[in-house]
Amino acid sequence: MGVKRMLSLALAVLSIIALGFSSVWSSPQTVASTMSELEAEQDKSLIRITVPNEKALDELVASDLDLTEYLNRENGKIEMDAIATNREVEDLLQQGYDIEMITSDEEVNQILTERQHTVDQLEQISEEADQLNILRANHFTNQSGTFLYIETKTTAGDYRSNVLTAEWTDENGQQQSATLSPKVDHGEYLYHYVLLNIEDIPEHVTITSSLGASAESAVTEWIGDGTPDDGKHYVTDFIDHYMDPTEITERIEQLAEEFPEIAEIVTLPYETNGYRRNAQAIIGDVNNNPGAAIVLTSHAWGHEGGNQISVELQNPEQANADLQVNVSSDTIEVNLATNSTSNPISTAAEVIEAINDEAGHLVTATPFRNNQGEGIVQAQTEITLTDGLNAPEEISRDPFEVKAIRIGKDRDGSKTGVLAYSQEHAREWVTPLVAIETAERLLRNYSTDADTKKLVNNLDIFIVPTVNPDGGHYSFYDYNYQRKNMTNHCPAESADPLNRNSWGVDLNRNHSVGSVHDGYIGGSTNCLSGSYAGPEETSEPEAKNLIWLAEENPNIKFGMNIHSYGGYFMWPPGAYDENRTTLPRPTAGEEAYFWQASETILDAIKEHRGTVILPGRTGPIPDVLYSAAGNSADVLWYEHDIFAWDFEVGADLWNPETGRWQAVGFQPPFEEGHEEAMEFANGMIGMLDIAHQYGKDHQLPKSSLQTVPDETSGTVEISFETSEPATVFYTLDGSKPTFESDRISLKGTREGAESITITETTTVKWFSMDVAGNIEKNYNPEGNGKNYNQKEVRVK
Ligand SMILES: [Zn+2]
Repeated sequence: MGVKRMLSLALAVLSIIALGFSSVWSSPQTVASTMSELEAEQDKSLIRITVPNEKALDELVASDLDLTEYLNRENGKIEMDAIATNREVEDLLQQGYDIEMITSDEEVNQILTERQHTVDQLEQISEEADQLNILRANHFTNQSGTFLYIETKTTAGDYRSNVLTAEWTDENGQQQSATLSPKVDHGEYLYHYVLLNIEDIPEHVTITSSLGASAESAVTEWIGDGTPDDGKHYVTDFIDHYMDPTEITERIEQLAEEFPEIAEIVTLPYETNGYRRNAQAIIGDVNNNPGAAIVLTSHAWGHEGGNQISVELQNPEQANADLQVNVSSDTIEVNLATNSTSNPISTAAEVIEAINDEAGHLVTATPFRNNQGEGIVQAQTEITLTDGLNAPEEISRDPFEVKAIRIGKDRDGSKTGVLAYSQEHAREWVTPLVAIETAERLLRNYSTDADTKKLVNNLDIFIVPTVNPDGGHYSFYDYNYQRKNMTNHCPAESADPLNRNSWGVDLNRNHSVGSVHDGYIGGSTNCLSGSYAGPEETSEPEAKNLIWLAEENPNIKFGMNIHSYGGYFMWPPGAYDENRTTLPRPTAGEEAYFWQASETILDAIKEHRGTVILPGRTGPIPDVLYSAAGNSADVLWYEHDIFAWDFEVGADLWNPETGRWQAVGFQPPFEEGHEEAMEFANGMIGMLDIAHQYGKDHQLPKSSLQTVPDETSGTVEISFETSEPATVFYTLDGSKPTFESDRISLKGTREGAESITITETTTVKWFSMDVAGNIEKNYNPEGNGKNYNQKEVRVK
């Protein structure tokens, strides 16, 4: 292995680690929740700092940072590497720098171990030939240009020295080539891919591997050109600003009032905890003397009297005074005990006990975090407790009634139901706009547009524009990066006001299928974590509301969980465990249906301004993003038989100047947020089209059996072809096929249907069933009929 190759292997490993950490560190909540770990000053890491300008660079160079000799100036951006303690990283983040973790010391050893493992594995696989499977070879054109996207899977797996190269001939007969990157998630190799800005579209590509394999594929278009029909009267665009949950809820109430024939409000039964908190104050200096600090928490909600409580700690300025607490109305006055020289001697623990004894009807006093209250308390001028909530008065502090708008001509459960819901995550401000825009389009085009009329007449549509109104209000008025609801499940030691922005439950991790409590990855049991799953499954009223909707309305067959950002379109499974074993994959037929439906939906999104949801961001959640234990789409799919999709609105924007994709964030300028809402409302209408087709589907599927004999081994490979996406149930033991029989599943991540190896002459019996429940030849798997398919497969 040459030096150059060794280096590129090492860099490839480093870049994976960098990606992993930068995504963790970009979340402020995660940073806050790891504060205690940050206290460990010995841990140092190699980091990359993006520096905005030369002046800032000078400042950094003058600082105490241990700089490396790496500095990269590119496109007006400066990247600089440094060795930093966690505290320094924290400081840099506080100062607004972008930080990417490259590697920490302890990871170096791990990298070396992994490297040795890789070297060993490479030796082994270079003795066997690999095989290539081209999963996708697509072109597409969006508002910024034409792109080529290729995905190829090698049987050798993730070995960086096994480089995959794409080659094709351009218009002028020139040979072009590009190297594919491996895609690895949670240690599992998924595929190699490349996404390229190209001038002209090749007809074919050839992929080769350094281990000597080769495969060829035609290049097909990913999404149609999506030219909208002209001359059609169809009204769109009903949003002009980001709306808080109170506005959003009033809006759907008005709509239901305006269109009583085709819409109504459904009030969900579980009220939220409310945009409210107890009032709190911290007495003392938590940085320099945390053992003397005291946390006071009111019993009353802040707006119901907690915010009126005040406390004062006085030094009586006399020798040998006793500790005393006097309470008059909502004022707590503490006279500290003193020694013979009139200096205060009361410990925090003593003051806490005295306050709880005398003012326990107003407040609870506790030590700060994990301190024992051993510090000596100093005098404190009067301070008033506060809930810290800044929303104007018209935002109610009461428990909130979450509402759905139900749209349809027949809202009696007889039509195919569709559920769309947004703002599980409070800070995702664009998502309620998608919901509102969709509702308005349906209602306002009903009388003039035949397509809309078809949807409203034949579907039963439930739209919950804001699942998490309390968090939503908090995000708008107090802390814009609020993700979770506002309910505090933290014990006293982490329930002080400095942690308020980290309280709450992640409503897309609180559900009962594949949760962190079941051992799945991507949820947390730490009450301060950004992905805190709650004290138990479905603990939160906001989560219960969703389940209630699904249970009350078994006609709901389609769901869309609307999030931001990144431009993703995903479906179950949504979680895997630490071995990267996912929840059960859909059958091959169901998966084919997901893909088929995605074409309609993604075409619709593209129509608005040419946004292409990338093929690499389309698919089952763990294949394109990461595991999300206890998410809501999974519970809808696995427990309620709902085809449950997720949108991440806000696709990256191509920046032609930097030649890079640029993230849009949770709260882009409204102009951009508006565009996102418009295009994903298109996607929602596309999904309603899918649901409408489903409701009309009475076509029976057909299937056939393919056999491929293997001359060398003497076995036969069998596979099934279906006339439409359909699940194949089969037996090999001569018994009649039923719903309990084996089903054809997927060959592997992002691959097609599996084939089965037959080793002796076998009669295969099978039937197929489409997603709408139509069964081939009207066979009844639970009856006595024999109108299933059968075929003898001969093995010599
Ligand atoms: Zn989200």
